[in-house]
Amino acid sequence: MSGVIIAGAGPVGLMLAGELGRSGLSVTVLDPLERRSERSPGVAVNAACVEALDQRGLMEEIREDCFILPAVHFSLIFLDMSKGDDASEDAYMVPQSRVEEILENRAVSLGVDIRRGHRLVGLTQDRAEVTATVRGPDGEYALSGAYLVGCDGKHSTVRGLLGVGMTGTEDPSCHGTGSPPTTTPRSPRTSWRPASSA
Ligand SMILES: Cc1cc2nc3c(=O)[nH]c(=O)nc-3n(C[C@H](O)[C@H](O)[C@H](O)COP(=O)(O)OP(=O)(O)OC[C@H]3O[C@@H](n4cnc5c(N)ncnc54)[C@H](O)[C@@H]3O)c2cc1C
Repeated sequence: MSGVIIAGAGPVGLMLAGELGRSGLSVTVLDPLERRSERSPGVAVNAACVEALDQRGLMEEIREDCFILPAVHFSLIFLDMSKGDDASEDAYMVPQSRVEEILENRAVSLGVDIRRGHRLVGLTQDRAEVTATVRGPDGEYALSGAYLVGCDGKHSTVRGLLGVGMTGTEDPSCHGTGSPPTTTPRSPRTSWRPASSA
């Protein structure tokens, strides 16, 4: 029996796996992908992520070979990154696949069992445990744990199996309105530069 079963080896599942692994828990991560995806929807880590990764000493590797972004945006509303002096407030240009690689390496080093090619397809639970039905390369098997955490993305199987609704919007558009700032760079922090020179 696993202590915690995590469905999904994306950044959220891998970060959680590392956190639980640090606490000495037995953790199994399931993901249907046979190998880590090279596709990187994300290209940058911003302040909150940087702070969390820094707290675990995981930003050092990232800073070795990435660039600090001069500005970041949400919905095309740009934030001037020149105002902060703390390296944790910088935004770093790094492919999501690289972040996932670092998170996975850390989790594995802490004893986490990452099962690729293994998809969660069903679950039952009682007061004592949850039992996942997993479809792996050799067919289906049952895996029990004290907890199961759904980190399986926007089309979450866990959410579907539990009948939990999606309370957010499915509107694919997300826009800001108004004029983006047109200020010119005022300090080194506002220009592109390798993080290793910071
Ligand atoms: C175009 C685009 C650009 C983005 N840019 C940025 C950016 O620059 N910076 C940033 O911080 N974020 C960015 N994001 C957001 C970021 O990509 C997501 O927030 C992040 O991927 C969510 O991570 P996650 O682990 O929750 O889910 P996911 O990354 O979706 O991972 C879910 C995992 O669950 C697995 N899974 C699915 N079904 C099952 C199942 N049944 N059983 C087990 N596993 C399963 C999947 O194979 C997958 O590996 C961007 C997103 C998009 C779409």
